[in-house]
Amino acid sequence: MRIDAVSIFPEYLDALDISLIGKARREGLIDLRVHDLRDFAHDRHRTVDDTPYGGGAGMVMKAQPWSEALTHVLDSADGTTGAAPVLIVPGPGGERFSQSTARELAQAPWLAFACGRYEGIDERVYEWAAERMEVRVVSLGDYVLNGGEVAVLAMVEAIGRLLPGVVGNAESLVEESHEGGLLEYPIYTKPAVWSDADGIERPVPQVLLGGNHGAVAQWRHEQRLARTAARRPDLLHVAATTQELAGLDHSVATRADAAELTVLQKACWIEMVTPAELWWGAPAEDAAAVAEGLTHWTTHLFRSEGRLVGSVRVRRDPHRETTWQIGRLMVVPDLQGRGLGRALLAHAEALAPADITTLWLNTGADQARLLRLYKKAGYAVVGPGENAGTVDLSRPRRG
Ligand code: SAM
Repeated sequence: MRIDAVSIFPEYLDALDISLIGKARREGLIDLRVHDLRDFAHDRHRTVDDTPYGGGAGMVMKAQPWSEALTHVLDSADGTTGAAPVLIVPGPGGERFSQSTARELAQAPWLAFACGRYEGIDERVYEWAAERMEVRVVSLGDYVLNGGEVAVLAMVEAIGRLLPGVVGNAESLVEESHEGGLLEYPIYTKPAVWSDADGIERPVPQVLLGGNHGAVAQWRHEQRLARTAARRPDLLHVAATTQELAGLDHSVATRADAAELTVLQKACWIEMVTPAELWWGAPAEDAAAVAEGLTHWTTHLFRSEGRLVGSVRVRRDPHRETTWQIGRLMVVPDLQGRGLGRALLAHAEALAPADITTLWLNTGADQARLLRLYKKAGYAVVGPGENAGTVDLSRPRRG
């Protein structure tokens, strides 16, 4: 990814030389170019600000140095960047930066950041820039900083760590706070019992010591829910108000969605797959296996406020041309039982091309809830599935 940042304090951004983002820069994963706005001022004092029209306290950044600095950035477009960057102007009056903003911006080949200072930038710069590139005013939170540099440090770190190869272990991105709309579970390391300075013994929760992966996963999921309810009930509320597909954002999954899909997959199977010996197939898949699956199927995603809440995948049967396969019908546990699964199934069926005569799916033989849903939708069990413990279901396509 190419990133340009314009600031009157370019050295403020030196912190991006450190740690994982610094390493990503050295390895060529992130091409970060920092520009000094004062290089585009032409008077002896390199002035970039002036008094506000209409009066009032503070100074306003002038349009001329900004237009020249951004023109300089635009002129450096090359074959890998596309014609223009997405310009992000940090500001307390902008859209709120969140994990979903970070995920969205991580898809862009080229980002540019314009760091305001003083009272901010002359409004005409926004108009001028919007005629040349996509402009987004983005706020770090509901408070006022002295300049945009701290916001750029935060945003570049949050976006940069989502780029492939920046964080060594992609799995570590999967269960973090705000992934899947929940906060992270509590974490512990050795010793198993820690005696603090007052001699009080503080043990690690027993479930983490037993080696039962299914039980650990279940415990962690419960902790995520409990912690989110205690600290950020607003997040649960967002999840719970979604009633049906119509209100959700729809997209087709790409590799960049693999980590989130893995979380959804595990969240859905946690409740269904116990004991841990049965933890194979879909529940056991890591992000790489999920990404691999995306190459054989078309996977449809549905999001509420950026949170992935449901998905289903479809394809033409590679061996029986007129059969439409539907798989991995998933709805986040907290939204199950509201008709979303039925709606996802209908969506998957509607995607079948005209020459398809049979709709087909496979599920666990013991999945009473799913079997009920499929039977209600007209499917009948046609025999045991390829994997032990599963059954195949099908129905003729109507109409
Ligand atoms: N007068 C502006 C207002 O009330 O919206 C505040 C200007 S602030 C003192 C100076 C600069 O700090 C802004 O132009 C912006 O670049 C940056 N800044 C301040 N708070 C921010 C926040 N919450 N998120 C992102 N950037 C912020």
